[in-house]
Order: sequence, then C-alpha cells, then structure tokens
Amino acid sequence: MAEAVLALFPDAKFAIGPSIEDGFYYDFDLPRPLTPDDLPVIEARMREIVAADQSFVRRELSREEAQDLFVDQPYKLELLDDLPDGHITVYTQGQFTDLCRGPHVERAGQIGAFRLLRTAGAYWRGDESRQMLQRIYGVAFETEAELQAHLDKLAEAAKRDHRKLGKDLDLFSIHEEVGPGLVCWHPNGAMVRQIIEDFWKEEHHKRGYGIVYTPHIGKLDQWKQSGHWEFYRENLYSPMDVDGQQYLLKPMNCLGHILIYKSRLRSYRELPIRMAELGTVYRYERGGVLYGLTRVRGFTQDDAHIFCRQDQIRDEVIAVVQLAQFMMQTFGFQDYKLVLATRPDKHAGTPEVWEHATAALTAALESLNLDYEEDPGGGAFYGPKIDVKLADAMGRDWQGPTIQVDFNLPQRFDVCYIGDDGGEHLVTMIHRTVLGSMERFFACLVEHYGGSFPIWLSPVQARIVPIADRHIEYALKVEDTLRRSGIRVDVDSRSERMGFKIRDAQMAKVPYMLIVGDKEIESEGASLRLRSGEDIGLCSIDEVQNRVRSAIDSRS
Ligand code: ZN
Repeated sequence: MAEAVLALFPDAKFAIGPSIEDGFYYDFDLPRPLTPDDLPVIEARMREIVAADQSFVRRELSREEAQDLFVDQPYKLELLDDLPDGHITVYTQGQFTDLCRGPHVERAGQIGAFRLLRTAGAYWRGDESRQMLQRIYGVAFETEAELQAHLDKLAEAAKRDHRKLGKDLDLFSIHEEVGPGLVCWHPNGAMVRQIIEDFWKEEHHKRGYGIVYTPHIGKLDQWKQSGHWEFYRENLYSPMDVDGQQYLLKPMNCLGHILIYKSRLRSYRELPIRMAELGTVYRYERGGVLYGLTRVRGFTQDDAHIFCRQDQIRDEVIAVVQLAQFMMQTFGFQDYKLVLATRPDKHAGTPEVWEHATAALTAALESLNLDYEEDPGGGAFYGPKIDVKLADAMGRDWQGPTIQVDFNLPQRFDVCYIGDDGGEHLVTMIHRTVLGSMERFFACLVEHYGGSFPIWLSPVQARIVPIADRHIEYALKVEDTLRRSGIRVDVDSRSERMGFKIRDAQMAKVPYMLIVGDKEIESEGASLRLRSGEDIGLCSIDEVQNRVRSAIDSRS
C-alpha cells in the first residue's frame, strides 16, 4: 500500500504501518487530504504491484546507512533514533524500500485478497501537539471468499451499531452543548435501563446485598488518602473549590461505602457485609478515544463492595462469579471468557499482599472448574481482578463483569472488624460489577440484539394498530386491558395507511402488533403479528395477553 501511495503522491512522507487486530493501517503525510475516491485508485495500483510479483528482500543496515537511505523521510529518521543498533532492517520490493522489522511473505504474488476500508486522521505518535497524518485502514485475507465474509460481517455490524440504532430507536443522545462523553437517556432507552436496574436490585436483595446511595462529589483529601490522586490522576477531573476546600467529582464509589461501613463498630459475626450501588462516576478520557456509549466521561457502574474476613474471600468470589453467570444468561449471553489480571507496574501494596489476593481469586476460579486466561500486569493499582469478556451475537468481545480483591484500601482507611479474639483486624474488600456500566452494557445489548430487545426489555411490548378511525375506540379499550396486566402497550391512532403503520412498528422493533378492524371487533379479538413479519392471525384478547405475559415473565 505504501508503494502504491508513493506512486500516486511522489512527495508522500511515511510514518508507521503496523498490522493490528482487525487488519492493518499506514499513516502518511500527504500534500492533500485523501477522499473516499482515492481508495479504489490506490487499490488498483496495489493490484498491479501484486501482479508484478516482486520478491521482498530483507537487509540489515547500520544506523548511518539507514539515515542516508531515509534522508527525505523525517518520520523514519525519528523512528530510527529509537531503534537499538543491530536491529535496523529494511525490506525492498522492486524500486521501493521501507523500514520494517518484518517478517514478510516472500513475494508480492503471495498476497491474497485485500480491501482498503477507510481513511482517518491520526496524530504522529498519538500526540495531539504533533503533525496530523492521514491513516488508511485495510484488511487482507488469503482468499476472496474470506474477504467477502469479513466485509459482510462489517456491514452487519454497521447495521447493529448502537450509535445508529440509538438514533433510529430514539434511545439516547450526546450533545456538544452538554459536553462530549456525557449521555442523555431518552424515554425509550431509559425504560430499558429502568427494567435492568429493577431486576438488578431485586437479584441483589435476594443475595444479601444492601443498596446504598452516596454523593457525586467529595473532598479531595480522601482521594489522596486512597491513592487515586497518586495512581489515577490522569483520569480525574480538576478539583473544584467549595468554601475554600477542594472537592472532586467521584471517579469510584468505594470511599462512600467504606465510610458507611466505618460508621459504627463491626464484629466478625456481621461479616460479610455486602453494599451495592448504581453509582454514577466521572472519569476523564481523552476526546479522541470517546465512542458512543462505550467510552464516555460519565457513567453509572453497577457497583458493589463486599467487606469480609480473609477466610471468606473464596466463597464470596465464587458467589459473585455465579451471580455474574446468572446475569449474563438472563440477558442472553452464552459465550464469555474469564481473564485473571495481575499486578501492574504502577501499583500500591507489597508483593506478599498481591500474591495472597491473586491466590484467592485463582482458588475461586479453580473450585468452580472454570477455564481462564491470564493477563499479566492488567490488574487495578490496588489489586488483581477477574475480568469477564462477553461475546455478542457477532462474536465480538465486550468488557463484562469485574471482580477485584483489595487489601490496600482497608489498610489506607483502617477498615477493621472486631475478631473473636476481641482484637481489631483489617477487613478485606472485594470490588465488583456484574454488568460493568449501564452505558456500556446497554450498548452491548443494543448491538447483540440489533435493537430487537427481548420482550421483557422492550420499551414498547405491544402496539395496537386500528385499521380506520372508527376502530380507535375499541383499540383504546384493548390498550387499557393489556396495560392493566402490566404490558407496555400503545395505540397508533395516526390517520396513516395500515401498511405504513405496520412497517413503522417493525422499524421500531415492537415485538407484538395487534391489528384491529371490523372483523376483530366483532369477535372481540385482535389479529396478531410479530416484528419478524410472522402473521399469527386472529386471537382473543385473553390469548394475546397470556402469550405476551408469559414471554415477559420467562424473560425469553
Ligand atoms: Zn470499588
């Protein structure tokens, strides 16, 4: 691709061009901005290069030789400065030579099917104070069939994109006036969220959690004491002045829960104490990484903290993993994997403490007989964690539940219980979320179901479509009956054609449509249609009600 770009732009300057998880890219400094029309032209040139089937020749160069070779390529010269001596290699095909670690295929003719997908702006070395470059993304596969399958998958993903469906289904919006990464939930999206939250609270009550609320701002000093100010500052907002004291928007819910715990003396008999909060937190993310509902600056965690004795850690972690499994199953996720993330470079606490915490997590996973991967260095600064990655209907990974064992905060805040020996002992904290954040989990649900939420989550579960104005009165009566049985139902009383109203309900992904006209009024029923287009036919109102209710109650 770089050789093709050079052929079209002889003054092109080259930055870096790695392979990435889902393809490859290359960053260029070009005399004019690329347009979508440029990509087929570059691709055509690439096909000529592949057809010429030149071999790729690897050479090792000294620093001086490389500096001579790339004298007109300032970005390459800068890259050379970072390469250790003896590790400078270039590859040449035909007239074109590039700095590259390799390896390469032997000949250009071995390159299979490829497609350039899009262009994007990218700062040199990701640094917003440096040159803005033009990035071209592409994919390559061994065969045309594999390439086509991938492009089909991308097209399907675009249809399910939560940012697109968020607009089409009137779920949420993000406004420049409010600020990037800050979400407004519309009635439809808020309805889904409310159902999730109600279900979540009910399940937590069943499992012995107490639900709490804590403030959104608090004095900065406590975040210094916790270590967040030291280890997590790049994600914190600037403090604000309140009566001459510095306050911070809360980035985590932990400290409020600690203070509730510490509000009186706790005995070993009371433990474990489980405190849960749908807690909204604020974290700074760079503007460039914000994305829909998945990377935001304000979000609500389904957070909880379990305060327990060391001998209770294993059983508590097991119970959390089981709760997480139950939740994922209920929301329709069958595939997930567990990752054990261990001590990062920037961390608080001694190696012994880390080892102990990691061992407790491992013991829990092993007693559940669960397979897991390791992510060395991927833990939080205060402790190791188990991350659960969900796979959606498209096979893409989403961050799901997280469970962290923490001996650090109890130490810093002197969080104790009175043991059976009458002495004070430090408690162990388990931080956990089972959905992650409401925002990200909602985005995941939208994309997993392509906007067709399961019935129990659908903002509108049934829509009544009167064929003509004279049927509206009956439609309203049916609406009232269904609503009384707890079904979310509305009537489309607009004076549009029936076909139009049915299509509209399908576009809105309403699970059930009840068509009512003369025939239906006479038999005191409704003609039932599904959003899939399936036509069930004439049913009594009782039948409709039972059918919808049982789908809601079973959360199917
Ligand atoms: Zn926490």
